[in-house]
Amino acid sequence: MTGSVAPVPLAERPKNIILLIGDGMALAQVSAGIYWKGVGKSVWERFPVVGFHKSHSHDERVTDSAAGATAFACGHKTKNGAIGVVPPDYNPCPTILENLKSRGWATGMVVTCSATHATPASFIAHEDIRAFTESIAEDYLETPIDCFVGGGQGYFDDRPDKKNLLDSLRQRGYVVQSGAGFGRLPLDGSAPFMLFTAEREPPSASSGRRYLPSATLKVCDYLKKRSSKGFFLMVEGSQIDWALHANDPQWLKAEMLDFDATVAAALQFAQSDGETLVIVTGDHECGGTGLNASDNKNRFTLAFSSRLHSGAMVPVYAYGPKAALFFGIYNNTEIYYKMWAALGDHLAEAK
Ligand code: MG
Ligand code: ZN
Repeated sequence: MTGSVAPVPLAERPKNIILLIGDGMALAQVSAGIYWKGVGKSVWERFPVVGFHKSHSHDERVTDSAAGATAFACGHKTKNGAIGVVPPDYNPCPTILENLKSRGWATGMVVTCSATHATPASFIAHEDIRAFTESIAEDYLETPIDCFVGGGQGYFDDRPDKKNLLDSLRQRGYVVQSGAGFGRLPLDGSAPFMLFTAEREPPSASSGRRYLPSATLKVCDYLKKRSSKGFFLMVEGSQIDWALHANDPQWLKAEMLDFDATVAAALQFAQSDGETLVIVTGDHECGGTGLNASDNKNRFTLAFSSRLHSGAMVPVYAYGPKAALFFGIYNNTEIYYKMWAALGDHLAEAK
């Protein structure tokens, strides 16, 4: 990174884990991101370790984002559409975020979708069906996550059942704010907070959304102050997938460049910290995306073979203590076990 200080030496084990998920992002999307950013300038080329995961779900070759994120959060393949519940009985599975929180780690999520959307939901909620958004919002009251930044305020305070979950959060000591400004948040680590960047889904990067890279860096600093044990942070570039469902190259380009800057922010923190493991992956491919030849030999034409997810393997990038665990080809569920192996397997046993 130009102008940045030299990385500090790495500890033997990580205290902190930052898991960054590009929803719908596999090799074609990263390849396009590298060319859009400029070869040699993208964050992807700075990772020392690359692996691949097999993204299929419990019941289908092609996963959805609920089963995909549940695999990372709980280490179990589940049916498409299920949030933090696993076969055979579809009982709740403890997530790595919940488990570490119960052991005194600080935890957070920073996303560009609503709090109730499948990927963040799978780290904190337990519902059979991802569309149960009002129930998913109530699940946020069950786990004392330290901070959330993302959309979806309306699922907490504009509900068919008239409950105001923001009042419940405030009663539990949360600072709750709307907008993308960090000015009045307890960034000294003195209180938990929820920052709602939108009533429902946040705008796209191409229509002015800017917060993901800077929020990621601020939240890392905040979480480090919240607990001396360490922290777990999940960051999602949620709308990469939405651009792909829409087969929209310009939307995809803006989201991939925003995610590149976000991953760079996480790397910047990790390189100055030395005790942070950074893992970046996608939950599945989307769009059946190809980089086809163009009339201009220095460009490519982005081609889509579908408006749905596909079954291609997904790359995994790792930096930091124990990053070497992420070499190879493995199931998506292994990401969960590798995170625990990095922290120390003795910690994984349910408390
Ligand atoms: Mg998602
Ligand atoms: Zn999707």
